Amino acid sequence: MRETKHLLFPGDFPALRRNRLTTLQVNLGYKCNQSCTHCHVNAGPNRSEMMDDATLDLIIKYISEHNVSLLDVTGGAPELHPRFRELVAEAGKANITVRDRCNLTVLFEPQQEDLAQFLADNHVEIVASLPCYTEENVNKQRGKGVFFLSIQALQQLNALGYAQDSALNLHLVFNPSGPVLPPSQVELEKQYKKHLAQDFNIQFNELFVITNMPIQRFGSSLLSSGHFESYMTTLRDSHQPNNLATVMCKDTVSIDWQGNVYDCDFNQMLEEPLHTKDKHSLHISDLFSTKLSDLPIKTGNHCYGCTAGQGSSCSGALN
Ligand code: SF4
Ligand code: SF4
Repeated sequence: MRETKHLLFPGDFPALRRNRLTTLQVNLGYKCNQSCTHCHVNAGPNRSEMMDDATLDLIIKYISEHNVSLLDVTGGAPELHPRFRELVAEAGKANITVRDRCNLTVLFEPQQEDLAQFLADNHVEIVASLPCYTEENVNKQRGKGVFFLSIQALQQLNALGYAQDSALNLHLVFNPSGPVLPPSQVELEKQYKKHLAQDFNIQFNELFVITNMPIQRFGSSLLSSGHFESYMTTLRDSHQPNNLATVMCKDTVSIDWQGNVYDCDFNQMLEEPLHTKDKHSLHISDLFSTKLSDLPIKTGNHCYGCTAGQGSSCSGALN
């Protein structure tokens, strides 16, 4: 894989500083029941990197003692972590919304037969990647047979009340397959809703449209195809300064499976940790004694991916 990191730092993106922390995004490890070709963490069934007990205990302690409003859990397939359900239950006790980045097919894995019911019982918000509403495009990106398993999973979630009951949110995620900006989130959501309802009687709450970042596998493919410079020009030319106030790193930190702290998931993938004013990187164990508000954010040229056009974040468009 060809690296783009040296082309992103130091960049000329405007300086940013943190606001108060409201969202803790936690990667529980790289084990996954799928091995998607586009996976930005290269997750798969044979990956053994998983958050250890001591680090998970610190996550639980942190959310119990601090006033965060959202715990955003990622992987791999986070549900395959042996303590996933305990983490969800602890967040519930602390009145924190849990957002599960669910690949949908995990609901059909051995010993996960009751997972959908568990998620519903605990009011876990589900965010699921569905790159298209057609079988061909989904299977191409996520593997043979994934589309129909995803459809079955969405029907099961609807039957449990997801996207029917106001306490059970089910969101879908789209990102473009090539070096272009995503279409309007509002318009694409209408198309998804129409097709999924017509063809499969599926409902969902919102479609999150996310811009591809020029990093990891996508960045490598841009370099190999000779599109890196033109894609960066597209992002820069579409920069909307008003998006700077709402980029997700202002109020989120991203924690990797070893407990290291980053400004966002993308910086985690680039191995560029969050730094204190005296340039120290942080571990979850340091967060108890560190004030994050006003710390500088580690920005690079990839950040234009967050501010281009309608803007982009883990929750979709910014405007
Ligand atoms: S389901 Fe998600 S985490 Fe798993 S391999 Fe695919 S993209 Fe990666
Ligand atoms: S890439 Fe990360 S650091 Fe840069 S603007 Fe987006 S969220 Fe913030």
